[in-house]
Amino acid sequence: MSIPRPKNPLFSFIIPAYAEEKNIALFLTSLTTILTTLKIKYELVVIDDGSPDNTGAILRELGKTIPLKCLFFSRNFGKEQALTAGLKYASGDAAILIDSDCQHPLDIIETFIKHWTQGYDVVYGIRQDRDGDGYIRRSLTAIFYKLLTLGSNIPIEPNAGDFRLLDRKAIDALNALPERSRFMKGLYAWVGFKSIGIPFKVTQRPAGCSSYTFRKLSSLAIIGLTSFSTFPIRLSMILGIITSCSALSYGSWIIFKTLIYGRDLPGWSTLTVAILFLGGIQLIAIGILGEYIGHIFTEVKKRPQYIIAETYDSKKES
Ligand code: UDP
Ligand code: MG
Repeated sequence: MSIPRPKNPLFSFIIPAYAEEKNIALFLTSLTTILTTLKIKYELVVIDDGSPDNTGAILRELGKTIPLKCLFFSRNFGKEQALTAGLKYASGDAAILIDSDCQHPLDIIETFIKHWTQGYDVVYGIRQDRDGDGYIRRSLTAIFYKLLTLGSNIPIEPNAGDFRLLDRKAIDALNALPERSRFMKGLYAWVGFKSIGIPFKVTQRPAGCSSYTFRKLSSLAIIGLTSFSTFPIRLSMILGIITSCSALSYGSWIIFKTLIYGRDLPGWSTLTVAILFLGGIQLIAIGILGEYIGHIFTEVKKRPQYIIAETYDSKKES
């Protein structure tokens, strides 16, 4: 099956950048070199996510030689928000989301485009090696995806990230989603469309380090888990039922024992353990509920997801 695509399509490259002063020039020059050889029509949309370093100044300098459209956020809002802004701003027939830290291999872009031409609306990269991540991070990632797929009825590909091509249909569908707590990997899966995964290997960063600290990643994981399923709430209910049933059967056993063998000295340790255990479960359940209430709180405030302090279009500047 082949879906007719526009004759001379425009590809929007959506490039989030946070504190990438050492990588951005190398990245953009390598990208434009590849794009020139591919002979495609493109626009480069770079989102400077409130970089505290010289990324912004470097972008303006690069804009003199490379056609750039830049959105400068008023502060750091996070990659999910940067991608959201880029998707809103992009005017292409398809968009390619790519990191600005040179970790995504540029030679795959051609394959992405080829599959789009053949009729796929979403072409996503699948990370092949997570060896560089360390054992703990890899295990936690695996647990997170297990929990995510357990609770939500939409399949989310574990090793697929933001490196992907999206057809205009998918871009418009994503733009129509109003939610503020954004977990993009889940949203891509939620909008659906005919998709295909392409394996790729993440390359080393030439400079700097990942800005995803353990704290940031855990927060994103909790947003992901609680935005895509009500499974955690259900789990706390199941735990409640299990503990109540165990308490009931233990209670029946005590009554039975007292009736048959008479009363013995009450076990204070059993009591303490039971109280602590139940208290813990109750606190966890309240915490889970709190996460969902937090989402409602964020949504009802209706604050914008990001603030664009300035836009820059190198074509208009010159
Ligand atoms: N990034 C961003 N805002 C942030 C953090 C990161 O726009 O708050 C960008 C960053 O410049 C890079 C991409 O998102 O282009 C991926 O970030 P990073 O390399 O830190 O994450 P990782 O590769 O570890 O997933
Ligand atoms: Mg990176």
